[in-house]
Amino acid sequence: MKILNEIPNDVNLVAVSKTKPVEMIIESYNIGQRDFGENKVQELVAKKEMLPEDIRWHFIGKLQTNKVKYLVNNVYLIHSLSSIKLLEKIESEFGKNNLCANVLIQINIGREESKSGIYEEELEDMISAVEKCKHVKVKGIMVIIPKGNEEENRYYFSRTKQIFDQLKEREFENISMKILSMGMTNDYKIAIQEGANLVRIGSGIFGLREK
Ligand SMILES: *Cc1c(COP(=O)(O)O)cnc(C)c1O
Repeated sequence: MKILNEIPNDVNLVAVSKTKPVEMIIESYNIGQRDFGENKVQELVAKKEMLPEDIRWHFIGKLQTNKVKYLVNNVYLIHSLSSIKLLEKIESEFGKNNLCANVLIQINIGREESKSGIYEEELEDMISAVEKCKHVKVKGIMVIIPKGNEEENRYYFSRTKQIFDQLKEREFENISMKILSMGMTNDYKIAIQEGANLVRIGSGIFGLREK
């Protein structure tokens, strides 16, 4: 994994293994990779059952409320908290098992209709809802930026970093702003320059996915 050498030590790499076979995951596992990302609940659970227990599974896709229960006991970090309704479902499903879910708030920083995530102006309501939870801990922010050129990428990454830093200065129940998840194969270098401390890389590690 050539990309591994290009990622600074203080930046975490989630290897996005969606659509790829378990054999490829084992190859990365064998050279030390432990964090893997999936965007479909069934696929994550099926792969987890076949693979070593010390893998940390990241859920990075759009999460439907009716699928939350399958993530209980199976996920290390949910990157895609995108509505209060979903928050409440996570709270209740993890609560049933007396567990705590670690999540990132996904912000739709480019305000694209095709993408999920909350708008910036919805952050305060989301934060108030999280503060009332007993079974959810927010660890940071995740964004998927719009397609664009380097200058546009940089704009969205730095805007997200600003929001992250502003929240970090405040104190909330159940929220510690530690993880800034942004950057994928085509833009991770810019994301890191702009302050990402977790990047999610798929095709750059495993090759292009079939549509
Ligand atoms: C697929 C996916 C990635 C990885 O994309 P690549 O361009 O293959 O690196 C990262 N984040 C999310 C949310 C994804 O769905």
